[in-house]
Parts: sequence; structure tokens; C-alpha cells
Amino acid sequence: MSETTKSLAGKAALVTGGSRSIGAAVAKRLAKDGAAVAITYHGSPDKAAAVVAEIETAGGRAVAIKADAGDAAAVRAAVAETVKLFGSVDILVNNAGIALGGPIDEITEADYARMIAGNVTGVFVATQEAVRSMKPGGRIIHIGSSMVRYAAFPTASLYTLTKGAVAGFNRSLVRDLGPRGITVNTVHPGPTDTDMNPDGGPVSKIVGPGMAIGRYGRPEEIASVVAYLASPEAAFVTGADIVADGGFTA
Ligand code: NDP
Repeated sequence: MSETTKSLAGKAALVTGGSRSIGAAVAKRLAKDGAAVAITYHGSPDKAAAVVAEIETAGGRAVAIKADAGDAAAVRAAVAETVKLFGSVDILVNNAGIALGGPIDEITEADYARMIAGNVTGVFVATQEAVRSMKPGGRIIHIGSSMVRYAAFPTASLYTLTKGAVAGFNRSLVRDLGPRGITVNTVHPGPTDTDMNPDGGPVSKIVGPGMAIGRYGRPEEIASVVAYLASPEAAFVTGADIVADGGFTA
């Protein structure tokens, strides 16, 4: 495919938490489809730089911006920097997320505050700031979790609370942004082989037998769903919760 026929040619994307795992795969895929891509990172500057280098080596355009998803001012600044560099944010992928948890009576207020800041406030602020200048044809894509459909094990109540908030935000935001030609969708991954949830790690021992297709997902398989939602092909898809979980919650 030539540069001009790529589905996202001329578009600018911002992927939060794009230094590793699902976010890195999303950034690379959107760049492959022709978008200029900004990624945010927090703790992994070297990995963020490596993602940018890989995109640039493949002929794409990318930049890494340090922005803690739990720091509203930093998130707003990252959106502003993306607009300054690329002229707009046409595609926002709210991917950055953390998974702190434990039995309900042991979760600390500090962990609660961190989870709300990173997984909920960060999503709200990035979205609010991005849509201020987003043009018709824009795309908001949240990364949720299949845990909102099926809680397969204990200790994840706080995590699921944050992902449920994102799913609710997704649903109502559709009404605000539909008239402006902006779609809003959530991809809910099931168990996916990443640093957060490595195949072979403690969670996989519990959920592995429940995978209908018999294996963990790969970050690229979540990225391909995001790429579809970002594409012109998905112009009529808004308010959707798309589960990509290998049948785990079927
Ligand atoms: P990883 O922990 O493997 O990677 C997380 C990414 O988010 C990294 O790039 C990390 O960057 C970034 N990040 C984490 N905290 C912050 C922060 N405070 N500010 C900015 N960036 C941050 O996670 P996954 O790739 O597995 O998860 C990605 C998303 O998918 C999350 O929202 C997660 O909840 C969701 N998900 C994952 C599933 C799975 O099985 N893996 C299943 C369902 C949903 P850095 O290192 O630079 O801080």
C-alpha cells in the first residue's frame, strides 16, 4: 500500500501508555496504517524511545511524551503537545492503565486514589482535552477489560470498578460527540500476554483453562481491533463495547 492509500494517512493519533505491551502494539499498528503517532509514557522512557525509533525506521512519524496518566495537568499538556506537533488529534486511544488490587477489605485508600487517577481521571481528562479541537471523523477508543463482563477471580474489584467507569463514560459520551461526527468505542481485551498479565504468570494459571480458543491474546490482536475502529470503515460504529477475549467471557 502506498503512503497516500493507507487508511489513516494524514491522521494524527495519541496513544496513552504506548511504551510497552498493548499500547506499543497499537501505536505501531496505527503508524503502519499511516497515522502520525504520539505516545505517552511514565516509567519506561527507553521503551518509549524504542517504539518511536521502530516507527521511524519503518518510515512513519512518531513522538514520545512523558505524561503520568494520573496527573491531569500532564495529560492535558500531552494532548496540547500532540496538537502542536501534528496539527490535531484525530484518534485518541485511552490505553494507559494499572492494576492494583487485593481483597476488598485490604485495599488501601492510596491504591484506590491511584487507580481512580490513572484509570479514570486520566481517561476523562485526555478525552476532554482531545475533543476540544477534534474534527468530524474523530475517534475516541478506550481500552476497557473483559472483567466488566465476567469477573473470573477475586481481588480485582477495584480494577473492575475503574473499567466499569470507562464503559459507562463511553456509552454516554456517544450522545455528546455523535452530532460532531466523532465516534466513541471501547475495546475490552481478555487475557492478553503483556507485562501486566504475562502468559504463564499467576493470572494465566487461573484463566487459562477458560480461554475458548485455548491460548492468551497477543497485543497485536488487540491493536487490530483498535485499527478497525480508527479506520474510515468504522464510521457508523459508535457506543460499541467490542470484546476481544478469545471467547473467555462467551
Ligand atoms: P502493561 O502494564 O503491560 O503496560 C502498561 C502501559 O501503560 C505501559 O506502556 C506503561 O508505560 C503505561 N502506563 C502505566 N501506568 C501509566 C501512567 N501512570 N501514566 C502513563 N502511562 C502509564 O499493560 P497492558 O498492555 O497489559 O494493558 C494496557 C491496557 O489494557 C490497560 O488499560 C489494561 O487495563 C488493559 N487490559 C489488559 C489486559 C491484559 O490481559 N493484559 C486485559 C484487559 C485489559 P510506562 O512503563 O512508561 O509507565
